[in-house]
Amino acid sequence: MLIDEIDFYPLEIENEEVFKIATGTSFTTENVVVRVEGEGKVGWGSGASNGVTQETNGSILSCLKEFRSELISKDVDIEEVWSEFREMNPADPSALAGLDIALHDLKGKLEGERVFELYGGKDEGVMTDRTIGIMDEKETLEHLKEYLESGFKAIKIKVGLDMKKDLERIQAVREAVGSDIEIYLDANQGYSVEEAKDFCDRLEGHGIEFVEQPVDEEDLKGLKEVTKNTSIPIVADESMKGHESAEKICVEEVADMVNIKLMKCGGLTGGRKIVEVIERYDVEAMVGCMLEIEQSLAAAVHLFNSSDNIKYADLDGHFMLPEPLCRGLTFESGKLFTSDRPGLGVELIPEKLERYVA
Ligand SMILES: [Mg+2]
Repeated sequence: MLIDEIDFYPLEIENEEVFKIATGTSFTTENVVVRVEGEGKVGWGSGASNGVTQETNGSILSCLKEFRSELISKDVDIEEVWSEFREMNPADPSALAGLDIALHDLKGKLEGERVFELYGGKDEGVMTDRTIGIMDEKETLEHLKEYLESGFKAIKIKVGLDMKKDLERIQAVREAVGSDIEIYLDANQGYSVEEAKDFCDRLEGHGIEFVEQPVDEEDLKGLKEVTKNTSIPIVADESMKGHESAEKICVEEVADMVNIKLMKCGGLTGGRKIVEVIERYDVEAMVGCMLEIEQSLAAAVHLFNSSDNIKYADLDGHFMLPEPLCRGLTFESGKLFTSDRPGLGVELIPEKLERYVA
């Protein structure tokens, strides 16, 4: 692909609601939109500021701008760009994700294929959960009611600050939804190993699909201890970054599943490298997100559709936005669908882009 032009747009969007998890509280969605133009078509991507990789819009912009000269007027191969960028900027996977997603969108458009088709995947709606942040039981149930009415069939509850309250909220949600709705839990490293083991023991019989990252991300030994101690599947999220850490988690059997986020692994190229690892070890995965606009969430939908080993999706970041920024990503009966247009199948709405450029 011959690249003619590349531009970046930092966005700052006040979320519709405050989002509290064990590691902190978020008020805004901060993303950098990437626009690449080549051979008469335009591809769009987006990278998200986030606390997990410690990237900000400023850091994302600065390394992308610096890399610009490696792309302009060059005939690029996505895999080579990915490796080169990562070598130069090892601590900036979200910046890389923004660029990599834009290049995939462009490639799909140039080849007349939807992005998942580039990897030989399937065209399916992706069931996503909706996440309830840390809040009291009354608010939890109010949010739950709203989400069920919107059609969600899976609910993720953030826990990890107070085990007693967490267990009460989980119990209340399970009683309210009956047995038809899937419940996922995410502790965001909030428990000690002993607490996490105790927590999982007390959850047995509640029909919990999985618990994400109960303990500190650096404590792989502790995470493995929790995993071995319970029948509830344990998911590595913060402990799981790129494909190298996926390999380690699979080899050492640290967790039952991994949470793939495009912002942690450098976009679709990085995501596909993780898929190759988990398919080799026959490990399952979920695909998750940060606070992101639809452009990168659509990319995650395509990644989901590229592998049968990806079983769950937590792709609800865009529901926090005050209004849609893109056309083409739709939500129906609990599932996300991208349009059948080539590339990612979503388009940023120009007026919206203008409205939120910081
Ligand atoms: Mg998580």
